[in-house]
Amino acid sequence: MIHAAGNVVEAKGALILGAGVAGLFTALKLAPFPAMVIAGAQPGVSGSSAWAQGGIAAALAEGDSPESHAADTVAAGAGLSDPAMAALLAAEAPDRIEDLLRYGTPFDRDAAGKLALGREAAHAMPRIVHVQGDRAGAAITATLAAAARSTPSIALLEGFHALELAVENGRVVGLFARYGLGAESRLILFRSSAIILASGGPGALYAVTTNPPESRGEGLGMAARAGVIIADPEFVQFHPTAIAVGRDPAPLATEALRGAGATLINDKGVRFMLAVHADAELAPRDVVARAIHREIARGGRVFLDCTQAIGAAFPEKFPTVCASARAAGIDPVTQPIPVAPAAHYHMGGVATDEFGRASLKGLWACGECASTGVHGANRLASNSLLEALVFGARVAEDVHGHNAVELGRGAPPAPEHWQAALPPRALRETMSRDVGIERHADGLKRALAAIVAVERAGAGEPALLNMTTAAKLIAAGALARRESRGAHFRTDYLQTDVVPARTFLTLADADRIAQQPAASSFGKLRMKPSC
Ligand SMILES: Cc1cc2nc3c(=O)[nH]c(=O)nc-3n(C[C@H](O)[C@H](O)[C@H](O)COP(=O)(O)OP(=O)(O)OC[C@H]3O[C@@H](n4cnc5c(N)ncnc54)[C@H](O)[C@@H]3O)c2cc1C
Repeated sequence: MIHAAGNVVEAKGALILGAGVAGLFTALKLAPFPAMVIAGAQPGVSGSSAWAQGGIAAALAEGDSPESHAADTVAAGAGLSDPAMAALLAAEAPDRIEDLLRYGTPFDRDAAGKLALGREAAHAMPRIVHVQGDRAGAAITATLAAAARSTPSIALLEGFHALELAVENGRVVGLFARYGLGAESRLILFRSSAIILASGGPGALYAVTTNPPESRGEGLGMAARAGVIIADPEFVQFHPTAIAVGRDPAPLATEALRGAGATLINDKGVRFMLAVHADAELAPRDVVARAIHREIARGGRVFLDCTQAIGAAFPEKFPTVCASARAAGIDPVTQPIPVAPAAHYHMGGVATDEFGRASLKGLWACGECASTGVHGANRLASNSLLEALVFGARVAEDVHGHNAVELGRGAPPAPEHWQAALPPRALRETMSRDVGIERHADGLKRALAAIVAVERAGAGEPALLNMTTAAKLIAAGALARRESRGAHFRTDYLQTDVVPARTFLTLADADRIAQQPAASSFGKLRMKPSC
């Protein structure tokens, strides 16, 4: 437990950790109820949110329906999606898109002035709203940050590195955060009776990832260290087509390219997905990612060929991907883009109910750091920004009026940008090698031992503890799940169990698994708690 030695800020409204789509949208939906949003990097450009390319799914097209959207979500979830949560997600999607329009998001329109809807893999209908082709994330986060800045009840604080939750009598009452670096740094305790985690995912714990360095799983780690129940941590989605040009993080070649007809070829020019799945390149993400992984593991290379399907329209339709490819000397108009799978999205997270409540009083979570049960074992493309919006609004509804008092006047320091350092190399390499696309008990046990070794070497440094805790939960969940399902693929347990069951575990469970990896039964992890 850390101490803030006199530096205490009373945030009498809600305190939100994270300024991606989840944090900013929740703050806006809370208004005029006061909200203090603290984040490492600058609101409007921080988190995975700003990097999202494809867009947001919502049943807006003629002939589409929330029922169809929910059915696609559940089908992608490989038996683990919670149908009630998926129904809620799909039903509330159109209203949340309306909210974004009201805040000023410049979604692309068709010739008739209606919202232009794209089609992505495993969606039965065109239902993805986007901005300038592949700039949805940047446009939405910038819009929400501008709206938050002009909302008097919202205080946006940047440059704070959150480290630990403060818990008193079984209730979360605050958050410790460090401001500044080295000897100049100060530890501050932000106190609030409503703490909302919106801290994003753990992708950067992997050596090959599409996520920014801030996505180190620290919110998840903090929550678990406070005793909060974590759900489905083993389910990490690997995006099939990160651009493989040796950059860290790896730039993404959005799913929408395959939606627009781009094909995957190996270095012999063979369109190998035709032999893997009836939907070829539009098969579920895990199927495509594994097929590419196997081509590469055989010593081959894989390319996304957009030259025929998109060709000269590429720079205008996909400006972000075009810029990334051209920066690496590849012209996607005329040349296939080299691709490889990369850690992309976490289906697991803080176990939350339909109002984003976590298992400890005083704590809510939304966005990628939460696990609502919507995504099950595999997220449907463009459902994650949507989940952040839908459950951010629900958290706001629940917290609203929860403690309707004015925001405290404890003056925080002036903003200073925080550059998240990448997690230790040994940790990232372990996660990619042994807790990656294909997993085996031997590798997972090796990973748990390596994570514990990194943790011990860190001598209790809280940021590192948060990262090793998140990594341990992912590896322990993966070892305990003795089947292959969705994004979790065990080479030693290829079967899919007849009765699907979500994982719910605490850090104590993960520690027990790390200490006794050979234990035969982890059955008690599979019980749904009440949040
Ligand atoms: C390249 C890419 C493309 C994607 N494309 C799409 C898409 O098209 N559609 C879609 O639906 N999803 C997409 N996703 C996924 C989606 O972007 C994320 O799941 C979503 O944006 C997560 O939002 P969030 O607000 O939960 O977290 P984030 O946007 O990651 O925000 C997390 C916030 O928490 C802060 N933070 C974290 N830890 C700390 C700490 N210890 N102290 C202080 N601050 C901290 C960060 O600085 C940041 O402000 C994509 C992801 C990537 C990486």
